[in-house]
Amino acid sequence: MDSTLRNIVQKMPKAELHIHIEGSLEPELIFALAERNLVALNYASVDELRRAYAFTDLQSFLDIYYAGASVLLTEQDFFDMTWAYLQRAKADHVLHTEIFFDPQTHTTRGVAFSTVIDGIHRALREARARWGMSGALIMCFLRHLSEEDAFATLEQALPYRDKFIGVGLDSSERGNPPEKFARVFARCKELGLHLVAHAGEEGPPAYIETALDVLQVERIDHGVRCLEDAALTRRLARDKIPLTVCPLSNLKLRVIDKLSDHNLLQLLDAGLVATINSDDPAYFGGYMNDNFVQTFEALPLQRKHAQQLARNSFFASFLDASTKQKYLDEVDTFFQD
Ligand SMILES: [Zn+2]
Repeated sequence: MDSTLRNIVQKMPKAELHIHIEGSLEPELIFALAERNLVALNYASVDELRRAYAFTDLQSFLDIYYAGASVLLTEQDFFDMTWAYLQRAKADHVLHTEIFFDPQTHTTRGVAFSTVIDGIHRALREARARWGMSGALIMCFLRHLSEEDAFATLEQALPYRDKFIGVGLDSSERGNPPEKFARVFARCKELGLHLVAHAGEEGPPAYIETALDVLQVERIDHGVRCLEDAALTRRLARDKIPLTVCPLSNLKLRVIDKLSDHNLLQLLDAGLVATINSDDPAYFGGYMNDNFVQTFEALPLQRKHAQQLARNSFFASFLDASTKQKYLDEVDTFFQD
């Protein structure tokens, strides 16, 4: 990739819509928090922990992910984790971010829901006050747990309804289809929450369909396997259902063998509202600009694709119409030069 294009993808305004905040925990911070909270880790050093990040599939990643999250105990821990991510996002010219968090990962360890959401939310407020960066929270239900657990989590969350804008569905996809959560998503829709779900990452295209038809989600997280079904692909394009694609995650979790095999360009060519995101950046080898630069290096993507991806990221966001337009104008102004 030439240096001009590299400069463009790095500096262009962008939004991140698929980032699990617990997946931004760097080994250094895991060790610092373990020390601060007197939590014992199964790894002797930062390097040993980093070496354990050689995953073979989604489940092998999730096992380490949940171990890393075990060091998070206080409101300040959740603030520090989120603040570290927001600083990285700002450096990558992310102007708006919609962050996933997994309350069940913490409440099952005895950490109060309020501790989790208050710490994360305080960091978002700070970023808005200091830098004008906008952000919002999406609460994810862990799909390997039961729908009853999800309902209980929703109950715990309702007193904090003003601190999150929607719900999502993450964790082990295979064997946990969207329809398992039909009733809790119906309840969330009644409550006026935005709805998203991971689907079609490792799971089949049929999971994308049931996420749309049964859960009535507005965005699909990942969704890269949609191209296996031509009718579904046409539907996603026609209805402008955004896909929050995470190239380095797909590579690390062996959804693809090498980045040059990624179908991002085909997704864009099919007229889909595809976006680039980092997913779990500390674990998958990079934040937003790492994803952009490496994907542009691996695929024959050009300046027009960069502009499309930047526009898609704001179009696909849950910002109100006027703020969305302001950011879209900012993208177009950037590309006029
Ligand atoms: Zn994800």
